[in-house]
Parts: sequence; structure tokens; C-alpha cells
Amino acid sequence: MKTDRLLALASRLPKRLHQPTERLIRKLPGIRTLMEEEYQKLLADMETSLHPYRGQVPAFPTLPETGLPPDEILALMAPLQEQESQRWQAGQVSGAVYHGDPEHIAFMNRVYALHSQMNLLHADLWPSGAKYEAEVVAMTASMLHSQEAQRLDPDVQVCGSVTSGGTESILMAMKVYRDRARAEKGIKNPNMVLPVTAHPAFDKAGQYFGIEVRRTPVDERFRARVEAMAQTMDKNTIALVGSAPGYPHGVIDPIPEMAQLAWERGVGFHTDACLGGFVIPWAEALGYPVPVIDFRLPGVTSISVDTHKYGYAAKGTSVILYRHPRLRRYQYFTATDWPGGLYASPTMTGSRPGALVAIAWAVMVKIGRKGYLDAARRLLETGDRIREGIESIPGLFILGDPLWILAFSSHEVNIYQVMDAMTQRGWNLNGLQFPPAVHIALTLPHTQPGVADRFLNDLADAVQEVRTQPATSGGMAPIYGLAASVPFRGMVDDLLRNYLDVLYKVDTPSRMEK
Ligand SMILES: *Cc1c(COP(=O)(O)O)cnc(C)c1O
Repeated sequence: MKTDRLLALASRLPKRLHQPTERLIRKLPGIRTLMEEEYQKLLADMETSLHPYRGQVPAFPTLPETGLPPDEILALMAPLQEQESQRWQAGQVSGAVYHGDPEHIAFMNRVYALHSQMNLLHADLWPSGAKYEAEVVAMTASMLHSQEAQRLDPDVQVCGSVTSGGTESILMAMKVYRDRARAEKGIKNPNMVLPVTAHPAFDKAGQYFGIEVRRTPVDERFRARVEAMAQTMDKNTIALVGSAPGYPHGVIDPIPEMAQLAWERGVGFHTDACLGGFVIPWAEALGYPVPVIDFRLPGVTSISVDTHKYGYAAKGTSVILYRHPRLRRYQYFTATDWPGGLYASPTMTGSRPGALVAIAWAVMVKIGRKGYLDAARRLLETGDRIREGIESIPGLFILGDPLWILAFSSHEVNIYQVMDAMTQRGWNLNGLQFPPAVHIALTLPHTQPGVADRFLNDLADAVQEVRTQPATSGGMAPIYGLAASVPFRGMVDDLLRNYLDVLYKVDTPSRMEK
């Protein structure tokens, strides 16, 4: 979700206010009105920026009476994509597009064209799809040292599934731990323990599957504190989670110590390598200081790895790996009594787009070990370069000890104003909160010649601008206004729900004609 301005705002609010204070503030009529006004203004701003095509591009709130000619439709859509691709093509976007090379994209499009009809639900019709899925899982497992893991522990038999993305992979793992704990230990009120930095997909799993989420603090380098996790566990704990690395600061949790704790207590351990799964094995080979994060550790029982991030496949695939098929069994869904026939499905979705799995397979086979190693080298070298560059900009510092996802902040200038000044220079960075910071997730477009220098020059400029003329960078004004007038997290939550509602608003033709 691209709501950096909202994030920037939210981070400035206290996590929670005393109930009496909140009630008192709500009673002050002046503050209430101010809050309402600012809130409405922000919503209106949000709607304008999220619907840039209103009045510019034909809208279809109803089906056209007769269909449009294909060329006309493509002519409508192509310019929008051309415009929206400019920033990521120039390497000015954090994360989002991980490869971006035109030849690579053209190759994936050809693979898609071959397989657009393929549905993995019908393995009888498309056995090639099942083959691709099995091999994507096997190649991913092998990249994450499954053979070595099996040598260390003969019981290991790494397996998994391809899902629609990191979130589904995480949902599946948490469902597995819940169902296993219910079946094997009779646990009815399960909880999971994870650092505050772990991805919100775990909260989603908690909400969807009725698992209590217990968040624990991180240390001064933003790594999970293992003692805090140990203290937070109880007899209803079903799994621990660590990130390799975590999205906010790009820092790898102490996975060996955490997995050891899980192993000692007999609970599951999930390594969230959604971001790092396709980089860390190569970082290890290149001699970067990374801990072991995979099944070579006896405690690690599942790993999520996103093929659609640094696996460089098209959006819509991820891999969930398990230490043993015993675990994957708890993921499966079957219906034996349906009049529609016997039904079996491995993941959340029913029909599954085989074309996306075919693309993941084709991309992995195209890039190969050497290709991923080279890509990781370029990313990590660019990471080193930009990290040193940021550290040498007076007033900025790097959070934690990251490799290629770099969070930075300042004790001297307001970091969100810096982010805003960077936005004015064409950069799309991500706002972080608790503490306030900004990050850039480096991807292959950033490794193009000149991009790192441009980033560092613009960043130094931006800091200087915020330092010398703080009043003139007007883009953040609404945020500060709102930050001052909306001191309740409940209102931020409401704002986020409004954001989602705004996304679903249809541009009506009458607006267009205005
Ligand atoms: C991206 C990400 C996820 C979630 O993946 P989606 O593909 O967006 O669903 C989970 N964990 C981490 C660390 C991530 O970076």
C-alpha cells in the first residue's frame, strides 16, 4: 500500500493516549472541529491524488452497450502504463519492481501468452502446470540448502507449495501451526510470538485464523530480542517468527538463536524470507556476514520466499516451504461429500493462475544460479555504496546493520520533510514509524549506472533544503496539520479504511465531461 504520507502522519501520533486524556480532548469543541476539518481535508486530498485520471480518461461504471474494438482498448490502456512505468524504470522507486529489464519482461510476457488458460486446479488438464509448481518448490528449497539440511538431519524432507504471494505463504504457515497444535496438543487458544518488525501478514493470519499475535520488542539494532520472546511464550504458543530480513529496516533477526528457542520449546519456527530468500543464500556465498536462516537449523520448520520479489518473476507468486510433508498436510483442504465431486486444493485459493507459476518456473530456469548470484552481488554492492553515501551525509544516520534495504533517519532534520523533498525530486521512498524513518529497498533498477549517485546527490540536496528552508517545503503541511489535530490511533485506523473505500470509487462519466 502506498500511503507513505499517512504512515508519516501516523508515526507522529502517540501509540495510545490515556483514556481520560482522550475523552478530555474529545470534549474540547475547538479541537473537535479542527480535527474534523483537517480530517475531511486530508480525505479530499487523498481522493484527488488517488484518482488522477478523473476527467482525463474514459470511465466505465457500467458495461458498454457494445464492446469496444481491441485496438481502441489497448490505446486507452497503454499510455497509462507508459506514464506509470517511468519512475520505476528510472530506478526512482523503493521496492515494487525488482527486475524491470525490458527483455526480461518481454520473456515473461511470452510465457504468459502460452499459458493464460492454465488452471492449476485442473492438474488433469494441465499436468505441465503441476510439474512447474513442483519444480519451483524444489529449486527454491535447494537454493535454501535443503540437501545440506537433510544431510544434517535425515528426517528433513523439504516440501511446499506455490502461493499467490508472501501474505498467502505466511497465512498458510500460520494455519498449519494452528491446526497442528489443535490436533497434536489440543491447543484451543493459540498464540504466535514475533518481533514488532515482522510483517503485518502475521496480524492478518492472526485475525483470519483466530491466533493471538504477541509482538515483542527489538534491540537497538532493530533485531528481535530473543529473551523477550522467551518470556512472552506460554503453553499456548504455537510458533515463533523471525524475518530475514524484515521489511522496515532490512535487518536480519538472530534466526539461529530464535529457532533454537523454538526447538527447545517444541513449537514451530517460521523464517519470513519473503524479501531475503533469493538474496541471502548468495550473500552467504559472497562472504557477506549473514546468519544461517534455513532448514540447516534444526528449529526452522517453515520458510516463506517470494518469487515475485527478488526471484524476479511476475507479480502473484511466492513459495511456502516446510521442513517435512507432515506439516504441509495441515495446509491442505479437501471436501469429500460435495455433490460437485471430490475436491482437493493445497492453498487458500481455488482456481490458480497456472501462467504465473509457469512464469516463475521459466524465470528461475532462465536466470539460474549464476544469474541470481550476479544479481545479488550487484544489489549488495549498490547497498554498500548507498549505505556509505547516506552515512556521509551530515545529519543522517542508518538504522541497524542492513545490507540492501536501507532505513535512515536524522536527529537534526525532520525525516518526513526529507522524504517529501525527495518526492519532489522524483523519488518514491517508504515512510517508517516507531521510530520515524524512511527506507529504500534496492532493486535491480537501482544498480543501473548513475542511479546511486543521483540518489545520494538528491538526498544530500534534500537534507540541505530541509535544513535551510524548512518552511518552504509545503507538501507535508497537511500531514503536520493532521498530526497535530488527530491524536488517536482509532482515527488513523478509520483513515486507512477510508483510504480503501476511496480506492473503490468509480470515476463517473459525468465527472469526466465536466
Ligand atoms: C513483501 C513481504 C511480505 C508479504 O508479501 P506480499 O507478497 O506483499 O503478500 C511478507 N514479509 C516480508 C518481509 C515482505 O517483505
